[in-house]
Amino acid sequence: MRIKGNIFLFFSKSLVLLNTELYFRFLIKNIMSKISINIATGSLQQAEMIVGIDLGTTNSLVSIIHPESKQAIILKEHDSSSLVPSIVHFDELNNVIVGDNAKQYLETSPQNTIFSAKRLMGKSYNDVKESTHFFSYKVIDDNTESLVKVQVGNTFYSPVELSSFILKELKQRAEHIIKTPVTKAVITVPAYFNDAQRQATRDAGKLAGLDVLRIINEPTAASLAYGIGTSANEKEQTIAVYDLGGGTFDVSILKISNGIFEVLSTNGNTFLGGDDFDRAIKDYWIKQLNIDINSLSNEIKQGFRLRAEEAKIYLSSNEIYTTNFNEYTLSLTKKEFENLIQPFIDKTLECCTNALKDANLITKDIDVIVMVGGSTRVSLVNKLVSDFFGKPVNNSVNPDEVVALGAAIQADILAGNNKDFLLLDITPLSLGIETMGGLMDVLIPRNSKVPSKAARQYTTHKDAQGSMRISVFQGERDLVKDNRKLAEFNLTNIPGMPAGFPKVEVSFMVDADGILKVKAQELRSGVEQTIEVKPQYGLTDEEVEKMLMDSITHAKDDIATRALVEAKTEGEQILETTEKFITKNSSLLTQDELMQTAQAMQALQLALTMDDKNLIQTKIEELNTISKPYAERVMDNAVSLAMKGKTI
Ligand code: AMP
Repeated sequence: MRIKGNIFLFFSKSLVLLNTELYFRFLIKNIMSKISINIATGSLQQAEMIVGIDLGTTNSLVSIIHPESKQAIILKEHDSSSLVPSIVHFDELNNVIVGDNAKQYLETSPQNTIFSAKRLMGKSYNDVKESTHFFSYKVIDDNTESLVKVQVGNTFYSPVELSSFILKELKQRAEHIIKTPVTKAVITVPAYFNDAQRQATRDAGKLAGLDVLRIINEPTAASLAYGIGTSANEKEQTIAVYDLGGGTFDVSILKISNGIFEVLSTNGNTFLGGDDFDRAIKDYWIKQLNIDINSLSNEIKQGFRLRAEEAKIYLSSNEIYTTNFNEYTLSLTKKEFENLIQPFIDKTLECCTNALKDANLITKDIDVIVMVGGSTRVSLVNKLVSDFFGKPVNNSVNPDEVVALGAAIQADILAGNNKDFLLLDITPLSLGIETMGGLMDVLIPRNSKVPSKAARQYTTHKDAQGSMRISVFQGERDLVKDNRKLAEFNLTNIPGMPAGFPKVEVSFMVDADGILKVKAQELRSGVEQTIEVKPQYGLTDEEVEKMLMDSITHAKDDIATRALVEAKTEGEQILETTEKFITKNSSLLTQDELMQTAQAMQALQLALTMDDKNLIQTKIEELNTISKPYAERVMDNAVSLAMKGKTI
C-alpha cells in the first residue's frame, strides 16, 4: 500500500481530539517541510596532490595548483598540447587508443571510434534514441531501460567504461608530467547533470583508479578560475556563466557571497554550438556554388566541414576568408559569417532569458559575465552577449582551460589549502515521494541548494500494517505518474500498531555531488532502511526542460486533479474512521444517530465514485455535522470515565 501524507486533517474536531497523535503528526509534517541546508566541506592533508579534471564532451583537460607559484596550471605534454580529445578508438586487437591519437580514426574507422561519450552518461537507449543519428558508432538498443551500451566489434562498452579510458589517460598524463602517483581528483560536470549522470561520472573515475573527492559544476569551476569570490571581504556578486562549446550550450546564474558559491539557475541546449556554425557555413557554400549535396562523397563533405571550421576560426581576427578546395573557390566575409550565425546566438540568448527568469533576476542584476568554451572566441558572440547583459564580458582566461583550472582550485580547497570556500549547487528538478492517491509530495523542491536535507513524517493507513512502500520521484507534476521514478523500496518489520500510530520519517539527503540518499525510519520502533539512489537511467536535459514546460502547461489541470485526489482520500479516510468509531461506540449512540450516519456515509460513498470535488466536500461536511455532536458526547464520557480512574 502507498504511504500517505495529509491524513485525517479535518474529520471533526472532537474525533481528532480523541487521538492527539493526529494533531501532532499534522504539526510535525508542517514543521518538517522547512528544508534545512547542511554544508559539507572537505578536509584533507595539505601535502596531497589532487588533480582537477574537466571531462568534456569534445575535449578533456587535467590541471593542478603549481606547488611553488600556487597558481592553477593546465598539465601540458612536451608538445604543449593541453586538450585531450574525448575520443576513444579500439584497434583490431582491441587496444584502447585515447585522445589525439584516436582523433584520426574518426573518419577512417568511425564504427570503432567513440566520441561524445559524455552525452550517453547515465542514460538508457530510450533517453538517446532520438539522437542516435548523431553517433557514427553503434549505440545498442537492448529494449530495456537499463544503461545504454556501445558496441565495438563483439565487445560492449558502457559510457562509464568509455569515460574511464579518458580519465585514465588524463591520470597517466598527470603522473607522467608531475612524476607523482595521482589517485585523487575533482571532476567537473554540467550544472544540469542529474544524479544518475553524476554517479556515472564518479564511477568512471573509480574505474580509472581515481578517488573522486568531489563532482563540481562546470560554471562554478569557471567562476573560481576567474578568482571570483576568492577574497574574504568581497561584496555579494551575481554571475552569468555563458558556455558555448562545439556541440553544447549552457548558461548558469551563480550568486557568490562570503566565499559561498550558489547556483541560482541553469539553462541551455545540448545540441547547439560551434558545430552549428560550421554546418551553416558549409551549407551556405554548397548553396552558393549550386552543388547537389547528394552528389558529394563523404570525404568531400568532410572537407567542406573542415574548411568551414577553418573559416570560422580565421574570421575571429580577419575580415575575409578565401581558399581553394578541389575545383571550388570558397570565400566568406565576416559580415556573411555573422549573418549565418546570428540565429544560433539568438537561441543562446533565449536560454539566458529563461535562466534569468528562473533565478528571478533581470539582466541588470548580473554583475559579472564569464565566457567559457571554444566558440566564445567568436567576436559576434562576445558582442551580442555583452549587449544582452549591458556590460562587458570576461574572456581573458583561455575559454578551453577555464573549467579545468577551476577544478584544480577546488581540489586545492579540498586539500585544505583554502578554507574560505564552500560550494553550493542546486537540484535541477524537485524530489519527493508518492503519497495516497498517487500524489507527489515534494521534499526537496527544484532549484534547492545542495548539500540539502529534508525530512517529513508519514503514517500507516491500515491496522497492523507491517510494511510501507517508499517510491521516490523526480519532477514538477502533481501526480507521480507524470514524473520520473528514481527508486522504490519497502520499509519492512514495522511492529503491529493501529493505523495512524507508527511515525515513519522519510529523510532525503542530497550530498555535495548532487547524489540523493533516502532513509525511512519508524521512529517508535527504530526500524529503518536506507538507500542510495542510483537510478537505472537518466534524463536528457530536453526531457528536464519538457518536464518543466509540462508542469507549467498542465498547472491548472494538476491543481484540479490534486484537489480531487485529496478530497477522495480525505473522504475514504473519514469513512474508514467513522466505521471504526461506530463499531466501537454503537452502544453510546441513538438509533437516529446511527441511521443518519449510515445515510450520510452512503451518500459520501456514492460521491466518491464521481469526479466531483465539491460534491465530495459537501458530503464530508454533512457527515461531519452529523458526527460532531455524538463524537463530542463520547469524548466527554471518555474523559469523565478516565477521571474516575477507568481506562478509556
Ligand atoms: P569546446 O567544446 O569548448 O572545446 O569548443 C570547441 C568549439 O570551439 C569548436 O566548435 C571549435 O571550432 C570552436 N573554436 C575553437 N577556436 C575557435 C576560434 N578561434 N574561433 C571560433 N571558434 C573556435
